[in-house]
Amino acid sequence: MAYAEDTELVDSFEEFYRDYYRNEIGELAQKYPTEQKSLYVDWEDLYRFDPDLADDFQNHPQQFQDYAEEALRLYDLPVDVKLGQAHVRVRNLPETTDIREIRADHRGQLISVQGIVRKATDVRPKITQAAFECQRCGTLTRIPQQTGDFQEPHECQGCERQGPFRVNFDQSEFVDAQKIRVQESPEGLRGGETPQAIDVNIEDDITGAVTAGDHVRVAGILQLDQQGGDRDKSPMFDVYMDGITVEIEDEQFEEMDITDQDKRKIVALSEESDLYDEMVGAIAPSIYGYERQKLAIILQLFSGVTKHLPDESRIRGDLHMLLIGDPGTGKSQILSYIKNIAPRSVYTSGKGSSSAGLTAAAVQDDFGEGQQWTLEAGALVLADQGIAAVDELDKMAADDRSAMHQALEQQEISISKAGINATLKSRCSLLGAANPKYGRFDQYEPIGEQIDLEPALISRFDLIFTVTDQPDEEEDRNLAEHILQTNFAGELHTHRVESNTSNYSDDEVENVTDEVAPTIEPELLRKYVAYAKRNCYPTMTEEARAEIQEFYVDLRAEGADEDAPVPVTARKLEALVRLAEASARVRLSDKVTVEDARRVIDIVRSSMEDIGVDPETGELDADIVESGTSKSQRDRIKNIKGLIDDLATEYDEGAPIDVVIERAEEIGMDESKAEHEIEKLKQKGEVYAPSTDHLRTT
Ligand code: ADP
Ligand code: MG
Repeated sequence: MAYAEDTELVDSFEEFYRDYYRNEIGELAQKYPTEQKSLYVDWEDLYRFDPDLADDFQNHPQQFQDYAEEALRLYDLPVDVKLGQAHVRVRNLPETTDIREIRADHRGQLISVQGIVRKATDVRPKITQAAFECQRCGTLTRIPQQTGDFQEPHECQGCERQGPFRVNFDQSEFVDAQKIRVQESPEGLRGGETPQAIDVNIEDDITGAVTAGDHVRVAGILQLDQQGGDRDKSPMFDVYMDGITVEIEDEQFEEMDITDQDKRKIVALSEESDLYDEMVGAIAPSIYGYERQKLAIILQLFSGVTKHLPDESRIRGDLHMLLIGDPGTGKSQILSYIKNIAPRSVYTSGKGSSSAGLTAAAVQDDFGEGQQWTLEAGALVLADQGIAAVDELDKMAADDRSAMHQALEQQEISISKAGINATLKSRCSLLGAANPKYGRFDQYEPIGEQIDLEPALISRFDLIFTVTDQPDEEEDRNLAEHILQTNFAGELHTHRVESNTSNYSDDEVENVTDEVAPTIEPELLRKYVAYAKRNCYPTMTEEARAEIQEFYVDLRAEGADEDAPVPVTARKLEALVRLAEASARVRLSDKVTVEDARRVIDIVRSSMEDIGVDPETGELDADIVESGTSKSQRDRIKNIKGLIDDLATEYDEGAPIDVVIERAEEIGMDESKAEHEIEKLKQKGEVYAPSTDHLRTT
């Protein structure tokens, strides 16, 4: 490009600044360089000033960025400063490019992408110009450094010898640098596509502002990077971006487009008399039964209202739910269906496919340069403002277990490791599935004992359902019919599509498939849920409040006499409120009515019966849920320990096992149970064997 044209373009930018950014530049001059280092330019302003200039900027950002910054340096400032290192950062491009749609044509262009920060390195200084000091003659040789390998001088500019050199830091130039990986947002994906990502390098004043889990819009220059090493270069290239602006987005369901026509459909649906049944029928229709669990999942989709109290504390509105059950009972099927209907969801297994696992992790992998640490967001962070469906929750890593408590109740995850201190948001609902500890439920043991999750974690769940797989002739017949029908519908449909000589008519196929189709189109349901969550903030009516209060007080009363186990704790009360609010939202109602209260009381009661019943007494026992041990069992353990204590004073070597078991039988505990309890006390370290067949308490 000719020199005259260059000056012309710089002049254009100067004129543009005078017309549009006089005040902003004045402010920048005041705050430069400590508080502010960049002038943010809205692309639309540039377009209004000169459409050609704006288009050229987009197509040749590297060059035009230089003109724009040169113009800023030449600008007549009201105060006496030099904007030598100031940046011009363009934002608000006319369109956003889908990360998966990035193509070779975009090379060198200014593009804008949107997504969630999956990984972010810590911020480290990067050398941009290295000053090599010759150890023989002292001359400085300056070498600009680009991304990639560190460039050293071939010879000294002074004495022309090959060094040795030492890098003089004072004479070199450094900039803060950070690398982030932006992944497509979960809600942008149609049913279960694997999200794609792009890496973005950012520098100077915009580093350190975003962290893993943030939803961002990034404008930057698309660059190519050749694959392979120095020796085995490949013809294939990777793409990455040099980020110019990074803006954190408001994380509501920004990408969900709800048209007026959608709105009419949503309102019409909300007025149907059998709305709740239709909702239930819209979830995993191929899975037979589970009406209550499916209704609970619906409530979870809509979720309660997140409450901000005047004292600035916050009560979560998200509902957490756990399905524990025998293998082969359809849990995984139900969980994986969520992605079809939740506006924002992440489906994963507790075993975790990434190093970040379920929560988050600070790792030193090849994402960062050398020893640089990277913060990586896990499933519960990526599902922020949505649902995390986690299968095989019982198999999660030890690190996740400890971070999970905070994630579920405070809905954030703190990470503090190797200079990385971050708090990531995880405002999501968890739908978990787990198998019992020994693979299958043992009917005679309390359920709480058979869940391989610690009690403190268990108690964070608003609802826990257990699924046992026991033969029942009528149920089995219905289940078989349902599964066979579903498969038949699939057969017909596939046959019709694949074979051109099909003798089934369209009508025949439709009739059969209709019976196993979801009652509400998944696409409509997604929009419905997003609409309700955006517009509906129900409040309790007097009657609903009374109903819930009464239920709670009654339950507590069942546990009022001295020996009865406490049936329920205050946690359940908050769960009831959340569920009732969700139930009102399903109807798009602003009022939680007494019907809502009754609907959720029914669900909570059945969930508590599932999990909280002491199998030895048949009584509801919140202790099973809250502490993992039922009351009768605690008594039993107390008794056995007491026995061992007593007997240990009578015998020098400690209490003989056979005598302990004999005494235990006298107080009504059979031999195998007593042995089982002793074994457990030993495992817990409360009892030990000073010599063979003798016991002492610790
Ligand atoms: P889980 O995760 O509980 O071990 P899966 O979800 O993998 O079980 O289910 C195993 C298979 O059994 C699936 O193909 C599922 O369709 C079928 N199945 C189990 N229970 C039901 C049910 N209630 N209705 C229909 N199919 C079922
Ligand atoms: Mg499974």
